[in-house]
Amino acid sequence: MESSGTMEDKIREMTGGFSDPFGDSSERIGRIIRFLDDSIVAKNRYKGNLYDLTKNEWKMTSILTLWLLKVIDLDYFTSRIIYRIRDGMEESLQNVRDEDLSIIAERVGIPMEFSPAESFYISRIPIFTKSCSRISGSTFRLVYQSFRDNGVLSNKNKVDKIIREYAVIQMRDIMDEIDRENAVKYFESYMPDLEGIRQKAQKLITPVDLGDVDTSAFPPCILHFISDAKNGVNIPHMGRFAMVSFLNKVGMSEEDIMKIFSSVPDFSRKITEYQVKHILGEISGIKYTPPKCETLRSNHLCYMDDDPICNSPNMKHPLTYYKIKKQAGKKS
Ligand code: SF4
Repeated sequence: MESSGTMEDKIREMTGGFSDPFGDSSERIGRIIRFLDDSIVAKNRYKGNLYDLTKNEWKMTSILTLWLLKVIDLDYFTSRIIYRIRDGMEESLQNVRDEDLSIIAERVGIPMEFSPAESFYISRIPIFTKSCSRISGSTFRLVYQSFRDNGVLSNKNKVDKIIREYAVIQMRDIMDEIDRENAVKYFESYMPDLEGIRQKAQKLITPVDLGDVDTSAFPPCILHFISDAKNGVNIPHMGRFAMVSFLNKVGMSEEDIMKIFSSVPDFSRKITEYQVKHILGEISGIKYTPPKCETLRSNHLCYMDDDPICNSPNMKHPLTYYKIKKQAGKKS
């Protein structure tokens, strides 16, 4: 096991200055714990924004939050909190002046230039594609962008989203870096609070039963969306649409589809129920079919990898995948 000095160095390096969790930072940790506790119930909101990107403390507060989440150790809850931090960050960008946004982007780790004459920002292509990989819509596809000096041109709205999504990717990377054993040891004195949060949050997880539906025949894209939903990862709008319409077509009940969504970070029963009913045709009378592979691919929502069925020349639709695999299962 690492010495406590090494852990301190690690936390200090990550937060850019954090030194004493039991002294000058204890008040900050207390606020984070209240924020975590307030976030257990989906509709509750902590008053104030601990993750304001215009304030210097955002980095230290965010990283300390991740260490505490490592102690709590619930994937579902971690995802919810990461998305709440993300929302706090985005909210704080609303009143930032154009000329200051690139400075904030730089602080988050996104080198970006601002062109005052035209009011747009230039970001590097790899950063743009990485940040936008989970945002659906043609606005965020590289093929539809304008370029200058080997960089992508974006307006403020787009940059707000790039910063927000990049922060999520970074937070997930940091979570992977933190060793739980060290986190428990370092934040031992906060254990009663953190264990209390863990127990309350655990009760929110709804086990998902897929009933008689043959999940072994699901294509990789649909399995990916289901796994994201179960782990509390937000799914882009088109991914949700593809998942709901697919599950409906293969015979899953509305109630079971709803259960899958109950772990999604921004879950609202009322809104989700309306969206699901709409896709299922109960509101408009139109029963939707999942998008074609081509559409999912152009929205970065295809996860075919080296799957042999997906890679076959005639694979054009997730439902075709399901039929082929089910047939293959019957023959074997
Ligand atoms: S090829 Fe089609 S079925 Fe396969 S993962 Fe991609 S979108 Fe889904």
